[in-house]
Amino acid sequence: MKIAILSRNPRLYSTRRLVEAGTQRGHEMVVIDTLRAYMNIASHKPQIHYRGQPLEGFDAVIPRIGASVTFYGCAVLRQFEMMGVFPLNESVAISRSRDKLRSLQLLSRKGIGLPVTGFAHSPDDIEDLIRMVSGAPLVIKVLEGTQGIGVVLCETEQAAESVIEAFMGLKQNIMVQEYIKESGGADIRCLVVGDKVIAAMKRQAKPGEFRSNLHRGGSASLIRITPEERSTAIRAAKIMGLSVAGVDILRSNHGPLVMEVNSSPGLEGIEVTTGRDVAGLVIAYLEKNAAPDRTRTRGRG
Ligand code: ADP
Ligand code: MG
Repeated sequence: MKIAILSRNPRLYSTRRLVEAGTQRGHEMVVIDTLRAYMNIASHKPQIHYRGQPLEGFDAVIPRIGASVTFYGCAVLRQFEMMGVFPLNESVAISRSRDKLRSLQLLSRKGIGLPVTGFAHSPDDIEDLIRMVSGAPLVIKVLEGTQGIGVVLCETEQAAESVIEAFMGLKQNIMVQEYIKESGGADIRCLVVGDKVIAAMKRQAKPGEFRSNLHRGGSASLIRITPEERSTAIRAAKIMGLSVAGVDILRSNHGPLVMEVNSSPGLEGIEVTTGRDVAGLVIAYLEKNAAPDRTRTRGRG
């Protein structure tokens, strides 16, 4: 197969591993810098140009679209879909997953366990908002944050009020969430490929910290997940419409709670921690499923 990887940087671990795994399995791998691709969207024959040439003959495309280039990245991916090229994850599913509000609403509608969560922009009654999510301790999150930045634990209602007021002053969309204390600063990253969890790791926050993000000094280790956690991760990915996803789960007293579903999960942490050939399994998924014009949406979303 001829497989495109949409990525800003061929030197990134995940990109390198996908190229390596694809090449090893006999495929032609081409890394395309997402922001450098350009296209004529009004033509009756959809095309993408790159470095002065049309991109042709691709069987599949692997989107590795960073949060900061979601808008343009999804447009390029959609153009591939219009050309009939099979996407590992579809553009509609990726844009859906990038909207935390929409994602949680979708998951909630389908009965996936979630921490009690409120959304607000400029709440006219902060005390009531806090009551709505059962009071302190609370986790308050800026909607556009990543890598744990903009995620604050408020031990008291007074602290929560001050933080909400501060974010209101900054005109931010915020999430106000029940604090899952019993997870003990840990969460579980499940890597879903197709209808399987092919690898899972536990991320533990450093002492004195509740955020388990590796960027915040957290550490990763192997973990055995329960059948319920497994099925929750698979269902969450499926509801989002993602073939490949990193599903983050908190272990609570009343079962697994999904925190977020990531559509371009990093491969380094999970491959190094679990020793699994995640990149190889992703390519194997494409070998089994990629066929022309098999996108469900054909870029319609
Ligand atoms: P980001 O998108 O910036 O990674 P997250 O929502 O994943 O933000 O939160 C960062 C970390 O904070 C999580 O990995 C988890 O360890 C911790 N955390 C987030 N929400 C909660 C919560 N409701 N209860 C307990 N811990 C939480
Ligand atoms: Mg996170």
